[in-house]
Amino acid sequence: MGFFDKMFEKKECAICGTELGLLGKTKINEGYLCKECAGKLSPYFHGYRSSTADDIREQLAYREANAERLSSFNPTRTLSAGRTNIMLDEDAGLLIITSQSR
Ligand SMILES: [Zn+2]
Repeated sequence: MGFFDKMFEKKECAICGTELGLLGKTKINEGYLCKECAGKLSPYFHGYRSSTADDIREQLAYREANAERLSSFNPTRTLSAGRTNIMLDEDAGLLIITSQSR
């Protein structure tokens, strides 16, 4: 009995509250994430299981702030050094380092 109770237990996304089915959810430390919230996280982020909902929220906020800065980024010069590109926005005094390697 307990097994099925657990399996069909209703789960909600810890971030947006979307009801989750059996598939398409990501386990985090205290609950689950829906596909959409998980998709908003960095593709390099693999610490789901040790992350709480607060950690995830923090990372989402951080990424949103970063995206804003990125959208106002206006590269005036791009330097290439092997697999690494350095983009300069000389007007704003910002630089972005990108790497094509994984
Ligand atoms: Zn969600």
